[in-house]
Amino acid sequence: MSPTKEFSLAPFDLVLFGGTGDLAMRKLLPAMYFRHYEEQLPDDGRIICVARSAMSTEEFKQEMERTVRQHVESMYDETAWASFCDRILYLSIDITDQAQYQQLVEVLGEVPDRVRVFYLSTAPGLFSRICDGVAKAGLVTENSRVALEKPLGRDLASAVAINDELAEVFTEAQIYRIDHYLGKETVQNLMALRFGNYLFEPIWRREHISDIQITIAEQLGVESRAGYYDHTGAMRDMVQNHLLQLLVILAMEPPVSIHPDAVRDEKIKILRSLKPLSGRDVLDSTVRGQYSDGTVNGKPVIAYRDSDGVAPNSFTETFVALKAEIDSWRWQGVPFFLRTGKSLQDRRTEIVINFRSVPHSIFDMPRVPNRLIIRLQPEEIIKFQIFAKGRGDEMRLQSVDLDLDFNQAFKKRQMIAYERLLLDIIRGNQTLFNHRDEVTAAWGWIDPIIQSWEQYQVEPIPYAAGTWGPPASSALIAKHNCGWLEECP
Ligand code: NAP
Repeated sequence: MSPTKEFSLAPFDLVLFGGTGDLAMRKLLPAMYFRHYEEQLPDDGRIICVARSAMSTEEFKQEMERTVRQHVESMYDETAWASFCDRILYLSIDITDQAQYQQLVEVLGEVPDRVRVFYLSTAPGLFSRICDGVAKAGLVTENSRVALEKPLGRDLASAVAINDELAEVFTEAQIYRIDHYLGKETVQNLMALRFGNYLFEPIWRREHISDIQITIAEQLGVESRAGYYDHTGAMRDMVQNHLLQLLVILAMEPPVSIHPDAVRDEKIKILRSLKPLSGRDVLDSTVRGQYSDGTVNGKPVIAYRDSDGVAPNSFTETFVALKAEIDSWRWQGVPFFLRTGKSLQDRRTEIVINFRSVPHSIFDMPRVPNRLIIRLQPEEIIKFQIFAKGRGDEMRLQSVDLDLDFNQAFKKRQMIAYERLLLDIIRGNQTLFNHRDEVTAAWGWIDPIIQSWEQYQVEPIPYAAGTWGPPASSALIAKHNCGWLEECP
């Protein structure tokens, strides 16, 4: 099998640290299978899964049959699956024990000139140990790359420390910090929409846009992640990375080219122009919530504090809504409302851009703004709400949607985010990965908010599972004469 020219990749070794973990089994290995199935991997690309569990490669493949296969059912093919499994090697290594890296030396040393990717899909506490381990074992070559899963630290100081440790082993050009939202087709389409169409640029600014809302709503509760989540909360888990990344892509200036450095330069500028939120301002501009018991999708949900692994008096937030502002000519005075939460009424990731209303309505109807709605999850849709005359005698305007449904528009299968990201790492394209300065700037904005919550002892407001969060979230946006999409006419 040889890759199609458009996608041809150099031979590679992908070392998956945490190869038996949830992320590897549910996302990373399926993503590589899909690329393999579509014949976009070179024949000599290997995937080396590393974890402590004592298993042979054959036993690991049986484990994949049990766990990974169910996630590739839509494109399962016996021959493709068998040849994909031929790419897999499993090594039982405790990454805290330097002597055990010798096994990797033996496997990777066979072909030292290949692209080598160290993918750290383990608990973040092990990241620096792995970097140190591969460096001491002499495994870091010029063609090596390291990919890291979020979260990168829990505050500015810890993020700086992790980045410093990484920098001792890898150059910035070798480091791929993952925010898987950036791998989603719709997020890339946001750039295509903004910078591939002349239409939007003149109106993409304060004169024409009244406010922007970004929602990442989950119906799932804390589930099995309680141990991690209770020490993290929604602000660190979702706002610091995914929500700020979406804001940045919406707000950035047109880059001079699609070159990774050009795109990252513009992203960093936006993060640095976020108006600082600290002290008492935080009380006015943010809402913290925590779900109590309720019903989601007709099923009873127990309160966050009653979940296994959560402290009974936990003050961790499972919901955040906030107003961000950008100090720039383009965005002065335009509020960016961000919200995210668990156990909410609906599951959706959605961006709503509210344009200004007509200055004076000649029709017998309230002045309602045009809206651009970009939905990333569960389906990928871009919708533009305009007004047209409804059918009939009367001159009555009705809202109609100009819809772009990507499934209908493009016949090609929609890739999952990790397919794109993994191939970009192997190709050496950093456009969709975060630069160290982005991480620093994002934490630099988030830290004072969390510190103010602590200083003023802002407790999370309870909200019933299955709702849209505490009423204070609606009040926050109503202060600016706006409403969340589900509250609008
Ligand atoms: P996980 O299920 O707990 O898996 C951890 C992996 O690390 C396992 O393969 C484990 O295997 C291995 N491991 C632990 N200690 C080790 C050691 N000393 N030596 C060698 N291997 C060791 O974690 P996960 O959910 O896959 O998450 C992995 C990373 O991705 C985390 O940083 C997480 O925050 C991030 N992430 C996960 C998701 C997700 O959906 N799961 C989403 C976004 C980000 P053994 O026990 O066999 O050693």
